Amino acid sequence: DVVVVGSANLDTTLRVPRVPVAGETLLATGSSSTPGGKGANQAVAAAVAGARVRFVGAVGQDRAGEVIKSILQQHGVDLSSLQLLGTAPTGTATVVVDDDGENLIVVDPGANAGLAPQHVHAALDGLEVPVLLCQLEVPLDTVRAAATHQAARCVVLNPAPMGSAEALAEVLPLVDVLVPNQSELAQLTGGGPAPITLEEVGDRVSRLTYAGAVVVTLGAQGAAVFPAAGAPPTHVPAPTVDAIDTSGAGDVFCGVLAHGLSQGEELEEATRRAVVLAARSTTFRGAQMPLAGRS
Ligand code: ADP
Repeated sequence: DVVVVGSANLDTTLRVPRVPVAGETLLATGSSSTPGGKGANQAVAAAVAGARVRFVGAVGQDRAGEVIKSILQQHGVDLSSLQLLGTAPTGTATVVVDDDGENLIVVDPGANAGLAPQHVHAALDGLEVPVLLCQLEVPLDTVRAAATHQAARCVVLNPAPMGSAEALAEVLPLVDVLVPNQSELAQLTGGGPAPITLEEVGDRVSRLTYAGAVVVTLGAQGAAVFPAAGAPPTHVPAPTVDAIDTSGAGDVFCGVLAHGLSQGEELEEATRRAVVLAARSTTFRGAQMPLAGRS
């Protein structure tokens, strides 16, 4: 079983001839609406991989919230801990994209910002949770409440979006498996250019002030696994695929990894399956697994 504590959005993508400049009004040539939010994306991925998933998140009492609920329900995700907040609209990302793929994105966290520690307690008290999976699109206090909760046997954190490395440092000691991508690993270890080469990854990981396991996702290069307690790292290459849309690949990776760990798989074994399914998810558009959206 996997419990995901995180965000859910209904995103709007507007296609434009070119990205507008400040003060300009442009007509879109088309628009679409896709479910997203890292929490919901990862919950769907874990469910598609075969996990029983409970989603702890928040949406508004609006049409967008209904759409998100119905998509998560179609994937069999348990929504008994989903908060329907009357105080804020469902979160949304508005993406403006031109034909060259140039884009501009504005995120309104909306109800995601209202997911509070008390909601986490209400959801987790009395449970036993083999794997608790979190990201950073809900308040850090809420992530901390989840990671410290005694229900959680194994805490997996995808530190995205990174925000402040200092704030995150407080949560890191509570984490069992940290899953950054290359740019998040760079930000966690003092910046510098991303992408980080495979050769540099080990050096960067050794600079983390953190004792748990780390799995670094490396895009087309797959992932690098650093077990806790200093066991030697392993590189898990990704299969070569015809990638057409890599958005959300990291979310698929995290959801599948969490499922594997909840089944008692070793970290490397769980990573192998996550790498394969994440690679496959880049071969079709709109990256939640079969049905849903982008992060
Ligand atoms: P994020 O989406 O967070 O930036 P990555 O780009 O590291 O994360 O991708 C996550 C995973 O998705 C990788 O570990 C890999 O398994 C898969 N993946 C992403 N891009 C590709 C690609 N071009 N070819 C094959 N696999 C990919």
